[in-house]
Amino acid sequence: MNPQRDRSAWLYGPDVQCRVTPPSIVHPRRLVLLGAPGVGKGTQAELLGAAYGACHLSTGDIFRTMHTNCSAQLTPAMSEAVSQMHQGHLVADDTVLAVVRERLQCLKCRGGFLLDGFPRTVTQAESLDAVFAEHGIVLDAVVYYDLPHADIIARLDGRRTCPSCHGVYNVLMNPPHVAGVCDTCGTKLLQRADDRPEATEIRLSAYERSTAPLIEYYWAQGLLLKVSARGTPEEVFERTVKQLA
Ligand code: AMP
Repeated sequence: MNPQRDRSAWLYGPDVQCRVTPPSIVHPRRLVLLGAPGVGKGTQAELLGAAYGACHLSTGDIFRTMHTNCSAQLTPAMSEAVSQMHQGHLVADDTVLAVVRERLQCLKCRGGFLLDGFPRTVTQAESLDAVFAEHGIVLDAVVYYDLPHADIIARLDGRRTCPSCHGVYNVLMNPPHVAGVCDTCGTKLLQRADDRPEATEIRLSAYERSTAPLIEYYWAQGLLLKVSARGTPEEVFERTVKQLA
């Protein structure tokens, strides 16, 4: 973990304090990363976070952390959310919004933020706009990562993640140094339940139906920056930074 950033409050909720004070940044970045599952938003969030000092705030990581760390104590609504997630379906807007509202301090953080996987529906985007308006938070931009369908399928199929530090690899395009083992913490890598082909199809159609309309939504607000997600993570990162300059 970058010593200047700590996602504990985001991952575990408002009762947990971040272990580091966010750095004073002259221009903290407040960005939403948009794009289909598998385009590499999480990887870009990590690279952008290291460059800008902002935390990678992924709602998918919150649900996975809940499942791994406290599945015995989950409320019925949260257990239902986790089961929906594993099957590839979107979690209900009310549940996601409740989870994000509990973590308002992360959106108000002076280090900025990189939202990944949220908002995912127009309802969520409208609620987020209301929260921003209420708290005087101004979004810099929405980075929309664009990738052809066939490349998305290949990336999802080859993706492996670290259940411990959330590192992301791809068996073909970005393999770990030792097959199946996380470079950062040595934990055995896993394929996410929702990256298996039966869940992938459901996720991609949920994206087309519910999330793709956000491209138009943010374009109309003048916030959308379209970036090609083709190439290596470093190439995509360079393109993103240029667009944000
Ligand atoms: P991700 O890691 O962003 O691909 O999210 C994994 C899964 O978590 C999604 O397929 C959904 O089931 C659930 N999820 C994450 N974020 C959201 C959201 N904003 N709205 C609804 N479901 C979500």
